[in-house]
Amino acid sequence: MEREEILGRLKQAEMVLVGLGREFDPAGDMGGDAAFAAGRELLQESGARWLLPAWGDYCAGQARAGNKKGMALEKLAGLLSGKNYFVVSVSTSGAVASFPGDGNRLVMPCGNGKMKQCAGGCEGQLRPVTEEDSCILDGFFRELWLGHFPSGGAPELRKCEVCGKPLILNNVYADVYDESGYLPGWRRYTKWLQGTLNRELFVLELGVDLEFPSVVRWPFEKVAIYNRKAFLCRINEKLYQLPEELSSKGCGISKNAIDWLSQL
Ligand SMILES: [Zn+2]
Repeated sequence: MEREEILGRLKQAEMVLVGLGREFDPAGDMGGDAAFAAGRELLQESGARWLLPAWGDYCAGQARAGNKKGMALEKLAGLLSGKNYFVVSVSTSGAVASFPGDGNRLVMPCGNGKMKQCAGGCEGQLRPVTEEDSCILDGFFRELWLGHFPSGGAPELRKCEVCGKPLILNNVYADVYDESGYLPGWRRYTKWLQGTLNRELFVLELGVDLEFPSVVRWPFEKVAIYNRKAFLCRINEKLYQLPEELSSKGCGISKNAIDWLSQL
């Protein structure tokens, strides 16, 4: 299907559901970047996986690779402007967290590097990362960039007021993930989704692979299959195939989602 036809369908649709995947993660750019990959391994080995999204954002800043994604997200926001839309992201990237569209229409169920929580998962400890935290993280990442895990251990972002355990970043890589960070957005999303029934719905899936498939890929397919007036457009460099049931009401495009958006 041609790009013009896809955009025409999107513009005509009453509602637009968007899924963002790992092609929006900094990691997507830097699979071969030695410093990024070495740091990621050190974080995994040392049990500090909760730092992975923030480490990706830091490396993207170092490599100045984040800009292309930021611009692609600007294009997406332009495409959605004035539409009744919702965006669900399995990407944990800071660029998505700063989505230039309506923040009330975005949910990131896997979290990101912008909020912190208690390492033990105590309730009510969610709070935004402060400037002081950012400085601490930057100092830690500067050493990690040089190839060694800092001798002081994982960075300390203050302690939980309830149990005294350290605060860590609020994302799916935390040992005990505090899901209350995204649940208000998730509730807005499910309510919005109920309103798509019998409406002309355009489902745009951008760069979503098979990690966490129950968040975007499978439910999006289901929505497109059960809604008579839905159309699903799946843009993905490798995993662009559609299930049989969607062959007449969907299209799969073998292209990197960032490149596709950048060319709009
Ligand atoms: Zn606690």
